[in-house]
Amino acid sequence: MKTLLKNLNITITNFAKTLESIPTCKLDEFNSSDTLVVMVDMVNGFCKFGALSSENVEKLIPKMSEFLDECIAKKFPILAYQDFHTSKNASEFNFYPPHCIGGSDECEIVDELKRDELFIAQKNSTNGFLAFNPLQKYKNARNFLVIGCVTDICVKDFSTTLSKYLQQEDINGKVYVIENLVDTFHIEGIHDRDVEHLLALYQMQKSGVDFLRY
Ligand SMILES: [Zn+2]
Repeated sequence: MKTLLKNLNITITNFAKTLESIPTCKLDEFNSSDTLVVMVDMVNGFCKFGALSSENVEKLIPKMSEFLDECIAKKFPILAYQDFHTSKNASEFNFYPPHCIGGSDECEIVDELKRDELFIAQKNSTNGFLAFNPLQKYKNARNFLVIGCVTDICVKDFSTTLSKYLQQEDINGKVYVIENLVDTFHIEGIHDRDVEHLLALYQMQKSGVDFLRY
């Protein structure tokens, strides 16, 4: 166990150092013809109220709003996943407290991030890709800019699945998670925000996901 913890410390410390030099996200370097912005779960139920809301996620909103406006000015399409459980007996509730019941205010995209340009895709699991494969609608998309919540669950599930899908289909694309526009919740002693965020980035990188900072 002592060796394991020592090696874990070395591995994670080395990875954390690489994050210090995450490149800046320069939107001018992307083209509207092959770029898709993917916003994951920026709904009231994860930002403002309800069993799974988090102030860490809510704090993302102002900068994310700026990011969306810049993307819209550049005519990048924006896909917004919306957690939306049509049944009170959703299978996901075996793992998480009930949240985002279809039609409730928890499902709504937060007011600050509502834009006419959003294309909304509803999802009934943590992995948005399983509900809606972006390549079906955005066939020419090759650069995917992922923002939203939470880093270690829905963002990680979507980003790693998309990255693997691109590999499976030999599509020469790239998934970028905007590191400072994703976040996760904190529960003292159970789910440490910093640890979970870092470990999720580590796992995403292993799946071929890149990081940028806005
Ligand atoms: Zn859910």
